[in-house]
This record gives sequence, C-alpha cells and structure tokens, in this order.
Amino acid sequence: MFGRAPKKSDNTKYYEILGVSKSASQDDLKKAYRKAAIKNHPDKGGDPEKFKELAQAYEVLSDPEKREIYDQYGEDALKEGMGGGGGGHDPFDIFQSFFGGSPFGGGGSSRGRRQRRGEDVTHPLKVSLEDLYNGTSKKLSLSRNVICSKCKGKGSKSGASMKCSGCQGSGMKVSIRHLGPSMIQQMQHPCNECKGTGETINDKDRCPQCKGEKVVQEKKVLEVVVEKGMQNGQKITFPGEADEAPDTVTGDIVFILQQREHPKFKRRGDDLIVEHTLSLTEALCGFQFILTHLDGRQLLIKSQPGEVVKPDQFKAINDEGMPMYQRPFMRGKLYIHFSVEFPESLPPDQCKALEAALPSRTSVQLSDMELDECEETTLHDVNFEEEMRRKQQQSAEAYDEDEDMHGGAQRVQCAQQ
Ligand SMILES: [Zn+2]
Ligand SMILES: [Zn+2]
Repeated sequence: MFGRAPKKSDNTKYYEILGVSKSASQDDLKKAYRKAAIKNHPDKGGDPEKFKELAQAYEVLSDPEKREIYDQYGEDALKEGMGGGGGGHDPFDIFQSFFGGSPFGGGGSSRGRRQRRGEDVTHPLKVSLEDLYNGTSKKLSLSRNVICSKCKGKGSKSGASMKCSGCQGSGMKVSIRHLGPSMIQQMQHPCNECKGTGETINDKDRCPQCKGEKVVQEKKVLEVVVEKGMQNGQKITFPGEADEAPDTVTGDIVFILQQREHPKFKRRGDDLIVEHTLSLTEALCGFQFILTHLDGRQLLIKSQPGEVVKPDQFKAINDEGMPMYQRPFMRGKLYIHFSVEFPESLPPDQCKALEAALPSRTSVQLSDMELDECEETTLHDVNFEEEMRRKQQQSAEAYDEDEDMHGGAQRVQCAQQ
C-alpha cells in the first residue's frame, strides 16, 4: 500500500497512502491520517519514510486547493508550484499542528517554533466609581492584524515561498563587531530582509490582498462588560483576540480597569468612605443631610436624638458600600468620617449662655497663691505641621553641607580604586 506508484497520471498515490477513496471527506482524511500517523510514528518504531509519506499525503489532501491541483495534474504539478522543489514541510510539523504537540513526548522541542505564542495586548480602560458600582458595558473599536483570507497567511498566490537568501532561511543574522585586536562580539538579530521569518516571496507571486505580508488589518468592536464590584487594576481578558500571525497561537487582548478618582466617595475594598463636615451646633445638637449615592438614590443620614458627634469620628451604614464582585447582592459598609467646624471666636455673652447649657467647669479654680507662683505666657496661632516640615528641611540641608565638606575627598578616593 505504501509502495511507490507507477509514474503515469499519478493522482491516486496519496489516497492509497492514507488508505481512503478518492471521494473521501475531510473528516475521513483526518481520521485515516491520525490512525496511520500514530501507527507509523518513528518514536514508536515506525518507518520514518512511511511517516513522511503520510504527512505529505495528508498535507496535500487536507488543503482543498492543493487537493484540486493534485486530482487534476498529479504530484509533479504541486512540486513545481512549491518553488525550487524544496518540498513542502517537515512531517513532524504537520503531525504537531494536527495533534497540538507530540503524544510521544520528546518529539523535538526545537520545533516549538511552530507553537509560538503571540504577544498579549493590554489596554488601560478608564472607568468611574459609578461604573464599578452599577456595572456597565463599553464598546471599543480596535484594529488588529488577521491572517489574510485570500492566501490563508501564505503571502503568495501559489502558496510557495523561498528560503530567504539573507539568512539562509534561519530568520536570524549574525553580525560581528571587533572590540579590540583579539576581541570580537557576536550579535544575533532577526533578519531584516525577511523580518525574521526565514522566507521570502517572489514579487510576481505576492498575494494581491496582503501584498505578501500574510496578514491584513481588520477593525473589530469589542464589548467590554464591567461587572458590579470590579476593582481598580482588575483585568478583563479577550482570549485570542490580539494580532494574528502565521504559525502563531494568537495572544489575548487584556483590558486593565483604571478607576478615576471620585470627588465624594473613596473606595477601600468593598467599603466606601465619605467625608462630611458638621457645624459645632450640628455635632452637639443633632444633624441630618442627604447623600446622593453612586446609583442616584438619595440617602437621608441623621443622628439619634441626644447624640453628640466628636471631631474625626467614624460612623457606618451597613450594606451601603460597594457590591461584591460576582456576589452583587452582598455589599460592604458605607463609612462616614466626620469633621467638626468650630466657630472662630465667641462673644462673651454667648459664652455665658453656653456655660449655662454645657456641663460646668470643674477643676479650674486656682488659688491666688498658686497664681502668684506662676509666670504668665501668651498663646500664638501656628501652623504646626508646616513649621515642623520647614524645620526638618532646614536641618537636612545643614546635614548635606556637612557631608560635602568632609565626605567629598573620601568619595574621590573610592572612585580611583
Ligand atoms: Zn532572512
Ligand atoms: Zn494574502
């Protein structure tokens, strides 16, 4: 069955090799090839020649265009088309692309080149806190490379390509640089003539659609669904939507959420924090105010009767924080951080009224004798943080000057060693 067929019309040999009829479907071919290839794989003691024949037969018959040429003109017509009779592909590569890797292990990791993975493409995606609270979807138009449909990524009309003369088909070039009389540096870089593919295409044979580039640009609209509760920095992945390239597993498009600052709400995990300033009267005697939430609901926030709020105090409302990612009915807390605005000054008569209302001053009665022993002082207004910062800066500068004077000479010494 695997014997060399006589050379006459010779358009049945490939079918015989695979053991299928001339009317076999693609599915039949696939099954027949799979069975025969496993049986004849050299790693399992099969005949390498037979294995090569099988791969070649399958390569031709599985490609509708090649199969048509073969059916009409036979094997030789295909060989002519292949340019210089270089003779198609390595049988192992077909085997690997068919099975997605050798089932026998080993198999040759150097052939991993065929399974190269394309790069992932990442895009930042700006979202508001409202988007993350309510969930949303955004349509984004991107342009990307796709395999040319006309030449199926071959780049040529005939499907033929030639070994690049610039790199002898390796895709890499080595350049040598002389660094000194007895020193050279060898550098490897992708061949500029074939862009690292190792192949060139005859000018006349170039695919008219992609001009031999093998890929064409395509506009694509992706709908990015931002789910409730997603976080700043979270990734949304579209597998296999990055640039396509021949013999390459297409990488992913990855969107990385970037939350814009919200003027009112800060987020911490599943919780939200809101700043609110009360007047002293509100802090002492009660308050109520309306807070518009991220979904537009109006929350009435009010104190309990008789409750006093102190400066810098936090209070929380349960289940009004962020929805939890993939559990949107669960929510974190909404914290309110209170500041209290004190009056700048109080007229004496108001002091009297307040003193009457507030708890009386205890422990402030000083005796004349105590007062006689004391020195009088004056309190000034200061911006404490600012003054401390300035003083720290001054002392740092003084230290630097000190360093320069003593350490300078030492540094020069070190550098000379
Ligand atoms: Zn090249
Ligand atoms: Zn093309």
